Amino acid sequence: MATVLVLNSGSSSLKYQLVDPASGRSVAGGIVERIGEPTGSATHQSGESETGETVRDARVPDHGAALRLVLDLFDEAGPSLADAGITAVGHRVVHGGAVFTEPTLVDDDVVAAVRDLIPLAPLHNPAAVEGIEVARELLAHLPHVAVFDTAFFAPLPAAAATYALDREVTAEHGIRRYGFHGTSHEFVSSAVTAHPAVVANLTAEGRRPESLRQVVLHLGNGASASAVLGGRPVDTSMGFTPLEGLVMGTRPGDLDPGIVFHLIRAGLSPSDVDTLLNKRSGLLGMAGANDMREVRKLADTGDADARLALEVYLHRLRKYVGAYAAVLGGIDVLTFTAGVGENDHRIRSGVVRDLKFLGLTIDPAANEARSDEARVVSVREQAAPGSTAAALPLVMVVPTNEELAIARQAMELAEG
Ligand code: ADP
Repeated sequence: MATVLVLNSGSSSLKYQLVDPASGRSVAGGIVERIGEPTGSATHQSGESETGETVRDARVPDHGAALRLVLDLFDEAGPSLADAGITAVGHRVVHGGAVFTEPTLVDDDVVAAVRDLIPLAPLHNPAAVEGIEVARELLAHLPHVAVFDTAFFAPLPAAAATYALDREVTAEHGIRRYGFHGTSHEFVSSAVTAHPAVVANLTAEGRRPESLRQVVLHLGNGASASAVLGGRPVDTSMGFTPLEGLVMGTRPGDLDPGIVFHLIRAGLSPSDVDTLLNKRSGLLGMAGANDMREVRKLADTGDADARLALEVYLHRLRKYVGAYAAVLGGIDVLTFTAGVGENDHRIRSGVVRDLKFLGLTIDPAANEARSDEARVVSVREQAAPGSTAAALPLVMVVPTNEELAIARQAMELAEG
């Protein structure tokens, strides 16, 4: 077996997974939380330990201590990293700026360049730099590969990537739409292109995969939409930062920038506004809960704020799907992914319900059936006579797997 250790360093957490890219299996994984706080904790999941889960409470002062704790947990609860056939360490890095448009083998210059990008991603890149540095120290015998959340969107057409601002200001400050969640949008859109129902439809219509028009909705705690033509991104909803676009767990998505000045003139500091927009808005701001399951529960008990929050969430989604239909000249496949997209059938039917004019439909039984598989949830009766596949356009649910995508890219690069 050959595996990749995938590390995702957040400001106060370290998520990790040991992945076998060939089978797609996650061998073990877990999370260290509350790094830098008085009490931290680690949860390690492994098929080899009796209970399946090992929890450790300990103070974890920094990312170095976090990774040491992870290595200890592998030693104690298994599987043994020495026997796991690790060929590379894959690091998730949020911002690759204009520099990194591909997965990159890490050396000192790469670490320096990721550090130089900190002004573009002050909330995310510092932890990535720290995570990479400690991992290169503690796992010095392995190749390290950085996989950037922005990379998939590097080829966005200029018309979609450019903000209509003074060109000297944008050039001086590196202001453009970078896009995020790229690893997920790439993984999901390629899975859609390869799905038998999609392949059968394209073949039946005599079309090439290059003409496939997809909209992918990644709806997790963070949320983003992308428009993908023949595997290439042509638009995406997150922009210069992960704040723009859809309504998210704690972020508002699209906003009139005038609100920011109004609040600052009213006495809030720039850092107050930053916290408001990153941590206290979105579903949490409107309904008092950032988890969609809780918002649903509140709405079902008649809570007016939660109901409105769901309406705002859905309205924004429909607006983006409509906009991307215009950008792509139509939609062949609309795909839902991530925590909300994969699990919440009411969000899916809520988005599609009013999009019949685009040919999009929902089959209630298929939509409500639970499954971990990539699947079609639109009405199958549309299929042409004699065809086993539903006709385009399709609505699909495709589970994302960013760790697997990172592991595959890291292994490919490490093996050269
Ligand atoms: P992240 O963006 O942190 O990677 P995920 O993609 O795991 O997050 O999505 C997390 C979110 O998914 C949760 O905050 C919750 O709102 C939502 N979620 C998870 N399971 C369900 C479910 N069964 N029904 C509705 N929402 C769910």
